[in-house]
Order: sequence, then C-alpha cells, then structure tokens
Amino acid sequence: MTFKDLGLSAPLLKAVKEEDYETPTPIQEKAIPVILKKKDILAGAQTGTGKTAGFTLPLLELLLRAKPTKGKAKIKALILTPTRELASQVAQSVETYAKHTPFTSTVIFGGVKINPQLVALRKGVDIVIATPGRLLDHISQKSIDLSHIDFLILDEADRMLDMGFINDIKKIIATLSKERQTLLFSATYSDAIKKLSNKLLNAPTLIEVARANTSNEIVKQAIYHVDKTRKRELLTHLINDGKWKQVLVFTRTKHGANRLCGQLEKDGITAAAIHGNKSQNARTKALADFKEGKIRVLVATDIAARGIDIDQLPHVINYELPNVSEDYVHRIGRTGRAGNKGEAISLVCVDEDAFLTNIEKLIQKDIPKVWLKGFKPDPSIKAEPINMGGNRGARNKPRGSSHRGGTTQRTRRR
Ligand code: AMP
Repeated sequence: MTFKDLGLSAPLLKAVKEEDYETPTPIQEKAIPVILKKKDILAGAQTGTGKTAGFTLPLLELLLRAKPTKGKAKIKALILTPTRELASQVAQSVETYAKHTPFTSTVIFGGVKINPQLVALRKGVDIVIATPGRLLDHISQKSIDLSHIDFLILDEADRMLDMGFINDIKKIIATLSKERQTLLFSATYSDAIKKLSNKLLNAPTLIEVARANTSNEIVKQAIYHVDKTRKRELLTHLINDGKWKQVLVFTRTKHGANRLCGQLEKDGITAAAIHGNKSQNARTKALADFKEGKIRVLVATDIAARGIDIDQLPHVINYELPNVSEDYVHRIGRTGRAGNKGEAISLVCVDEDAFLTNIEKLIQKDIPKVWLKGFKPDPSIKAEPINMGGNRGARNKPRGSSHRGGTTQRTRRR
C-alpha cells in the first residue's frame, strides 16, 4: 500500500515524500480512506502511530477537493488538543503536510500573548489548532468565528477529559456548525469517551490499530528494583554507563522534576525540566535544546510530556512510577515510535509495588524485573506511604481515582 493508493493528490504526496515516509502506517492505512468518504471516525490510536498524518492528510485532501472560496479564508477545520505542546506539534505537522497546498493554519493556546493570535485570525486561516481554554477566550471575545467549520478533530480526547476539559469542549461545540465531519482520537475507551462519542459522532466508523491499553510491543520494558534513596545514583550510572545522549525521565511531581534536574547537573549531566509551573517559553526552549542534543536529559511530569514528539527517542526512564496506570502506557509510548526500537526502564522502590501491580494488570503482562549489580535493594527497608506532593487525600492511593458525582476524578500532579 502506498500513499498514492490511498487517494491523496500530488501536493500531499510531495510533502509526504519530503518527509521520507515510504509507506502509510497502519492507522493511516485504515483512517485515510474512511475520512475521505466523509465519515465520522472514532479511532483508538496512541501517539507514535502516525495518527497526526492519519487525520491531517485526508483533511487537506478534502479541502483540496472542495470548491475554492473567494476572499479571506474562513476557518474550515478545528483541531482540539489537550496540551500546548501537542497543539504546537500538531500545528507543525499541519504546516509540513500543507506545504504545497494553498491552505493556511494557526495555533492557539494559553500561556502566551493573545495579540499575535488575534492578528493571525484577523488575516484569515483555513485550519485552527487549539487547546480548549484559550480557544474559549477567543470565542467569548468574538475574535474567532467557527460557525462555518466542516471538520472537527479531537486529538487525545481521553486526555482532554482527564484534564477536566469536558465543559469547555461542550461550550466550544455549541458554537460550531452541525454540518460537519467529526474525527475523535483517543488512546483509551473509557465510558466517558463512549458518552462523548455518542453525543458528537454521527454513525462513526471504529478504527483501532493496537488494542487499547496495551503497551507498545517494540518498546523493551524493564523494571530495575532499587532503594528509593539510590535512584538518582542508579540513573546517573545508567546514563553514563550506556553513554545515553537523549533520555526522557518522568517524575510524579513538579518539585521532584526540579530536584532531580539539579542533582543530575551536579553529577555533570546536562538536564532541563518541563512541567506546568514552567512558562511556555521555558518549556519550548527545554524541548528544543533536548531535540538538538544540547541537553542530555529532559525531566518531565506526565501532563507536560503529553504529546511530545521526538523522532527516535531511544530511552524513557520512569524515575517514579505513575499513580495513574494509563500514564505508564503514555510515557513509554514516547519511545519506540514509528517502528523504531525503544527502551523503557522503570526504577521501582518498595513503596511503589502497588502501582506496579496495577500497571501490569492494565497492560496484561509481567514486565521483566532485574536488579542491577551494586544496586540490589536492601530487604530490611519496609514500604512507606508515597507523598503525592502535599495532597493529603492522595497519599499512597495506588490508583489515584475516586468517584465524585458519578464522574471519575483522577488525582493528578502536573
Ligand atoms: P504521531 O503518532 O502522529 O505523533 O507520529 C509519530 C511519528 O511518526 C512522527 O514523528 C511522524 O513524523 C512519524 N510518521 C508519521 N507517519 C509516518 C510514516 N508513514 N512513515 C514514517 N514515519 C511516519
């Protein structure tokens, strides 16, 4: 199967060729023909499967096939994403794939000045990529008109719900044209996603490329059991011993990310942290430095790392296991992308055994466990409650979820 077989026309084939994509990925093979038939889809696909091109290419193809309109561009497609990082990465992809088409796009998210966004919107664009909060600001100050859109795409919809965006999404949807094609992408199928898709989608085609909630098969996973107090020493050892040049490290809390970053720097390993307390500029710079190889280690919390797109990222380290098991799948999905091999190592202390049990239940397999020579855990150390960063209600709750008013509230630290 080639991109041409999928029915894409010359300007898009040229862009794909320039990206050196030889063949479509499974999600692209499945989603593109269905989207081109103008059907709604509910797609279960994680980051790293090529899903962005999977919805952007057919979107552009349908725009190319539509009758050209005269005058200033009206917004024809809205792509909603949960985080700023994902929004800017999707925006970059849209720009890349639209390079040889006449279509323009702009990205809208909070944490940066609103003025340049107003200027871009006033000029007129065809495609808007946005996070819900800032988009609602534009809607309420009437700086954006979404009443003509033909396409709505919700990317990582499960994460948007996890982050509490449901009401924002409902408000946004209320302003959209009803005559539209809607594409919903989600890594997991929760009841909340089913409810949202029932409301939003019209006779959707279900597309799945990997079983939801299974961890990526080309990622080699391992658990290194280690005492909590020796995790940093082990991490430094692994990085130096393996001569790792690009490592994404996850911590549970923002404070933990900062502290680890400082400690690695002391060990002579260049590192930067990204989390919700960092300004957008600091986050963008840290990510750029990491991609360019100026820093070896990027320490991230779950939400900040969501959607980070780094080609051929070889190593992901869980310095601490996530308290929400699904985050484990998302974390290790940062490596082993688009067919590349990856390694995900979790440094697990005795306090985290309950988290590990839940993760293995979710991914339905045992992760190989090893002790590294010189780092064998001290059996006399007993498990202690995990401090989730000052949230008393969340102390030592392995699943970190509780029911409130019928909806699941997750305990989440950014
Ligand atoms: P995504 O799942 O959209 O975040 O894409 C993951 C990575 O796969 C990105 O770095 C893309 O550039 C890359 N990619 C997307 N489609 C293809 C393809 N057909 N062949 C090779 N790489 C691809």
